[in-house]
Amino acid sequence: MVERQLVVFDFDWSMADQDTDRWIYEVNAPELRRKMEDLDGKMQWTDLVAQLLREGHEKGMKREDIEHALRIIPYHPAMIRAVTKLKSRGKTTFLCLSNANSVFISTVLRGKGLDNLFEEIITNPAEWDASGLLKLRRRVDPEGPQHSCKIGCSPNMCKGDELHSFLARHEPAYDRVIYVGDGSNDFCPVLRLRSNDIVCCRTFGGLPKRIARDGEKFGLKAEVKYWTGAWELEELFNTL
Ligand SMILES: [Mg+2]
Repeated sequence: MVERQLVVFDFDWSMADQDTDRWIYEVNAPELRRKMEDLDGKMQWTDLVAQLLREGHEKGMKREDIEHALRIIPYHPAMIRAVTKLKSRGKTTFLCLSNANSVFISTVLRGKGLDNLFEEIITNPAEWDASGLLKLRRRVDPEGPQHSCKIGCSPNMCKGDELHSFLARHEPAYDRVIYVGDGSNDFCPVLRLRSNDIVCCRTFGGLPKRIARDGEKFGLKAEVKYWTGAWELEELFNTL
């Protein structure tokens, strides 16, 4: 019997049908989008986004431009229905676990009327300064102690550690955890799930590849269900 369950959402390409970090440049500054592509893999990702936010600001990209891009980000209506219906049935807590940032996520959610969906949003901290620059930092301060993830999480945060500490803060254990993700950095938290938990893995992105390559090797216990469009996730949520 499941009386109390947790749904964990990655954000980019899981909750939203795009990647917030890339999308704001695709809308407002394609030359910086190209630069992002060129520097991808050469710098830590959060630091790269923070640097391009500064460059965009110097080139005249305004707070309103970024907020506009976030309001028009592709977002499937079935996703809104799926989470709203599941939440209204009462036994589900929602957690957002994302490598985007607090401002991007809250702006998108507000635009969709989903401000109150998540119990917690665990992500990189960001804030607007008076000049309209969005100041973004890694969740794990580069000056302080670092996480020791061996699975492949980026230095800005270990999603597995974050999920683990959320679960410790919300004991007793949930009867079931459902994890929705697409990226290779979702592999680490998915390994923390139990055999009665479910991974809702998007069919594209790094996660399905990592599960296929390393799932057995790293002892993945949860059941994996695949989805491509949010209408399929909605069908699955209707059975939870
Ligand atoms: Mg993602």
